[in-house]
Order: sequence, then C-alpha cells, then structure tokens
Amino acid sequence: MTTPHTHTPTLTRNQALVLGALSNADGPLSAYTILDRLRDDGFRAPLQVYRALDKLLDHGLIHRLESLNAFVACAHPHCHAGGIIAFAICEGCGQVNEFSDAVVRDRLGGWARENGFKAEKTTIEIKGRCSTCLAA
Ligand SMILES: [Zn+2]
Ligand SMILES: [Zn+2]
Repeated sequence: MTTPHTHTPTLTRNQALVLGALSNADGPLSAYTILDRLRDDGFRAPLQVYRALDKLLDHGLIHRLESLNAFVACAHPHCHAGGIIAFAICEGCGQVNEFSDAVVRDRLGGWARENGFKAEKTTIEIKGRCSTCLAA
C-alpha cells in the first residue's frame, strides 16, 4: 500500500508535525517519544500519533524499524522505486543509516523467483557499530 512518490503529498498539520519530529531526531523514535515531543503542539493521545504515522508510512515518507518498534524519516523519499530498503542501526549511538543496494535486491529477487515466493515487502536491518563509534 505504498503510494508512488510522483509528487509531494499534502499533509495534515498533525502529519507534518510528526514528520518534523522524526526529521529533526538524531535517531529512531518510538510513538511514545514522538507524543512526548509534540505535547506542546497539542498532541494528547497515542492514537493521534499512530494515525499520523500510518499516513506517513503510506506516503513512504517514514519507515518503521521492526526490531526497534520505532520510526525514522525516510532519507530519500523520492528514490524508492520498489527497491530494497536497508538500515544499518548503530547500537552505540542509535544512529540509523538508510541505504539501498541493487545487488542485494537482485539476489533476493532471484531467490524469490526460484522458490515461487511472491515478496511484497523486504526490509533489512543490520545492527552493529557505526564508524564514529568504532573510532571513539
Ligand atoms: Zn526511505
Ligand atoms: Zn554509532
């Protein structure tokens, strides 16, 4: 249910606020952290945050990191042509690096074809240490 990004979607005020909170964050945020940061903007209930998150996910403007149950703003919302999204998650500083890789995509696509598996969504999450943390 991902909308193609042929144009910038019109966001409601709440959606824009949630997207702004994620864009300004240093790392992934849980829905409750987002709620805490937006209390001054009139957010009161988790449902308000979840509704906005759902729409932003539909628009492809943010991603959900399954293993952390947290959300990040998409690093490049205009170049997901149905490709594979991968995240390198640093367990030292919490930074998330989003990237895509055509070779990985082709390999996984080949496996799916050979096995008659219809892949609908692939997300790769790599956990470890970023170069900054390793150098510290
Ligand atoms: Zn993205
Ligand atoms: Zn790090």
